[in-house]
Amino acid sequence: MSSSGTWEAVIGLEVHVQLRTQTKMFCGCINHYGDAPTTHVCPVCLGLPGSLPVPNEEAIRKTILTGLMLGCKIAPVARFDRKNYFYPDMPKNYQISQFDDPLCAGGGVGLDPFLFPKEIQDTDEAKAGRTIRLTRIHLEEDVAKSFHFEDRSGIDFNRAGTPLMEIVSEADLRTPGEAFAFLGSLRQVLLSGNVSDADMEKGQMRCDVNVSVRPVGQKEFGTKVELKNLNSISGVRRALTYEIARQIAACGKGEAIAHETRRWDDEAGATFTMRTKEKAHDYRYFPDPDLLPVRTDQGLMEAARTELPELPAALQARLAKDFGVTAYQASVLASDRVLCGYYEKAAAGTTHKAVVANWILNDFLATQPDPATTPVQPGFFAELADLVAGGTINSAQAKKVFAELMANPTSPKALVKKLGLEQISDSSALGTYCDEAIAANPRSVEDYRAGKTNAINALKGFVMKKSQGKANPVQIDEILKAKLSA
Ligand code: ADP
Ligand code: ZN
Ligand code: MG
Repeated sequence: MSSSGTWEAVIGLEVHVQLRTQTKMFCGCINHYGDAPTTHVCPVCLGLPGSLPVPNEEAIRKTILTGLMLGCKIAPVARFDRKNYFYPDMPKNYQISQFDDPLCAGGGVGLDPFLFPKEIQDTDEAKAGRTIRLTRIHLEEDVAKSFHFEDRSGIDFNRAGTPLMEIVSEADLRTPGEAFAFLGSLRQVLLSGNVSDADMEKGQMRCDVNVSVRPVGQKEFGTKVELKNLNSISGVRRALTYEIARQIAACGKGEAIAHETRRWDDEAGATFTMRTKEKAHDYRYFPDPDLLPVRTDQGLMEAARTELPELPAALQARLAKDFGVTAYQASVLASDRVLCGYYEKAAAGTTHKAVVANWILNDFLATQPDPATTPVQPGFFAELADLVAGGTINSAQAKKVFAELMANPTSPKALVKKLGLEQISDSSALGTYCDEAIAANPRSVEDYRAGKTNAINALKGFVMKKSQGKANPVQIDEILKAKLSA
């Protein structure tokens, strides 16, 4: 397929992640979102002269934990540097970041096939199971947040100095769908380790997208464009789809791609030039003289290791192996740890674990439950699965029990009684129905005995009707056959 006329995209992401910590990165102020502006501040995070930063061990530990989860190498010694620039949301005129010696290097993010956009989950692109390499993860302080009103601007310093991880990918991504799956898969890892809530729409995870195009087969990268103002995972996908088409069209006309930063406008569905990058920024990085290097000693590494969670991929593999759920169900369960815990409790009560998964992930989930607080006990699903598997009720009756269970959360066994749904499995009662069926359908009996085995269905239908659908179908089959061949 690769001809000189085809182009491919090359994409690398820089993802900023707000760490969930008690306090800010270099001072004791509370790290909390959503309070009245500039109420969690002190001389350090306001950048007042003479104040001194003290690193937050919890933030360093959570960054190391993130590195361990993503298979990075943790630096034995890491350093904090000053990144110098002027901006109103950063009154020190420098941001404390990491330059040459970040906490984590290397590692990767495995793309979960079920975290690709729904409509392409069935394609080779999603099923390829690629791992996207990471360049590095470093720790820095966030800046304050600017607000622009009609005739003035305001700055909220509650965010100033809060811990922020920057996760930089290699330019390994090739499609908007992969970028979408990368962010979703990364988010699942971050959530599993409890390091961040990583919600793009709340700004807890922010992403700069770098994208270029090149003729298929060419080794060298093309000129990259950086996209800003992306505030959802699907927005990243839309922006990339637009930008890749724009670049390919330009290249097709022989135009050069300008090395620039572009802004995504979600309403317009297009990107617009923000600033060109004729000259590279010179941030004059240098080691922050107020901060000692960070030695990631054994104690710190051990502390991070004890916080290692069961990672999404491992959890999915265990669910598939021990519970017999499908790969898709395993992915859904792994992406919601509360629901997963609920399911595991339910599955513990029965051998029919895959059946329970179907009930919980289809019927129960459709009712939009809160598994943490629902009065529907997980054990009820085990009971329901056992009632069906044991032949007490059939699947149509089980649907009725389920509906009643949602309205009136009590034991399914009790609900079966209450609804009068119990299957008739008493063989003498069934025998009577079968005798009646034989007596009332001489034609079918004759046909059956002449070798038309399908004729038995008329007799079964008779019994079902008589018993109002409650007769145990397996038993009827056995009893009728025995009586007919007698
Ligand atoms: P900069 O110096 O502009 O910050 P970096 O080399 O640090 O650029 O890369 C920043 C991000 O851009 C990384 O995620 C990297 O993988 C990606 N990237 C680098 N070059 C390209 C390119 N030509 N096309 C697409 N992405 C690229
Ligand atoms: Zn402070
Ligand atoms: Mg860079």
